[in-house]
Amino acid sequence: MSLKKYDTIVIGAGLVGLSVVYHLKRKNPDSKVLLIEKEDRVAKHQSGNNSGVIHSGIYYAPGSLKAKNCIAGYSSLLAFAEEHNIPYELCGKIIVATTPAEVVKLKEIHNRGIQNGLQNLRELRSLEEIQELEPHCTGIRGIHVPQTGIIDFPKMAETLLDLYQNQYGGEAVFGEKVINIHSQNNTVHVETDKHMYAADHLVSCAGLFSDRVANMTEKENDLRIIPFRGEYYKLSKEKEHLVKALIYPVPDPSFPFLGVHFTRMIRGGVEAGPNAVLAFKREGYKFQDFNLKDTKETLSWPGFWKIVAKYGQTGMGEMYRSLSKAAFTKALKKLVPEVQESDLVPGGAGVRAQACDRNGKLIDDFNILKSANIIHVRNAPSPAATSSLAIGNHIVNELLGEKAAVI
Ligand SMILES: Cc1cc2nc3c(=O)[nH]c(=O)nc-3n(C[C@H](O)[C@H](O)[C@H](O)COP(=O)(O)OP(=O)(O)OC[C@H]3O[C@@H](n4cnc5c(N)ncnc54)[C@H](O)[C@@H]3O)c2cc1C
Repeated sequence: MSLKKYDTIVIGAGLVGLSVVYHLKRKNPDSKVLLIEKEDRVAKHQSGNNSGVIHSGIYYAPGSLKAKNCIAGYSSLLAFAEEHNIPYELCGKIIVATTPAEVVKLKEIHNRGIQNGLQNLRELRSLEEIQELEPHCTGIRGIHVPQTGIIDFPKMAETLLDLYQNQYGGEAVFGEKVINIHSQNNTVHVETDKHMYAADHLVSCAGLFSDRVANMTEKENDLRIIPFRGEYYKLSKEKEHLVKALIYPVPDPSFPFLGVHFTRMIRGGVEAGPNAVLAFKREGYKFQDFNLKDTKETLSWPGFWKIVAKYGQTGMGEMYRSLSKAAFTKALKKLVPEVQESDLVPGGAGVRAQACDRNGKLIDDFNILKSANIIHVRNAPSPAATSSLAIGNHIVNELLGEKAAVI
């Protein structure tokens, strides 16, 4: 049987991979592109199990890839949502400080927002000003970020696939897992558990398995994915009125997660979470989920033990909040004191693919590795759903040899 040959093969039908194939075919309709996904549908992992927030770019270090791509991705995302009727709403969010120490950190976040070019940020200088926006929220200072919004990311993923296949004639296979990649004489051979394909170029956007896929071609991959589950509760119907839009705490600047918050969802309801609990299975959505290979890979990574030494206490707190609804409620009560344990019903969960280096540094920024004719997206944590169109556009510019648009 002859080997099917493509110009480009893309691994992973999350928002990043979908954005890559969409931009590839849009810019170069004659190119032969194949998307390979191991699941039976798009967005089964991070892209379909997240908070559904359009991030504004306020948190990220000025000049970082996250800051640049969040802001560029934000505009592209809104234009795409308008053009293709993806439900979204720019409802704004508040970040609230509840202690004097948090006020100092809040000021730093505000400054970052200004440096990143955000306009119309409003300082909330008293409880009254906070409660003008969120009547049930408490705090001593806050920032209102009007640009933040909510969106239906799974619908966006389905739309990207639809455009790629039906408007631009792109090919996709689902239910095929890439198990090996071999590059020779400028041709990349991609072996799945069912077939073998060949291409001139390969882009991997494998999310929770990005390190394993990168290891198929890179002798020395200095990053390992450590999976952190984010678990949600939902506010019961009767208590949804406690939250009008989005309410966030001041995040711990040394920890790459935002802290449990309240999010009004575009499909209805209010979610509370997510926490950040070490997962013993990369696609493990429940506390008891365990996978020996995944766990061995985490425990054998030298950087992991440095994370334990550095964040052990925070990690134990997150673990405790995962097991104790009372502790989870306590964290939420800091923002909305009226919330009671009985108001929270179990919600879903997502697992974050967080890259970690050998020295225990949790990689905060996006990381894209390019070598000859292969590109690996090795770290695309939040806000990569918001930034997905900018990231995809950048990768395609790299592939086509055009000047990089953003990254
Ligand atoms: C709990 C949580 C909340 C978040 N909240 C937000 C938010 O509100 N806003 C925001 O902007 N971002 C948010 N994020 C981050 C955002 O969801 C991710 O950054 C983004 O979805 C990453 O997309 P991706 O395509 O890289 O990965 P994924 O969506 O995980 O897609 C990777 C795909 O690769 C496939 N794959 C892996 N290995 C193989 C293989 N060997 N062969 C074939 N296919 C393979 C997987 O099955 C998967 O479909 C959140 C993330 C989580 C987990």
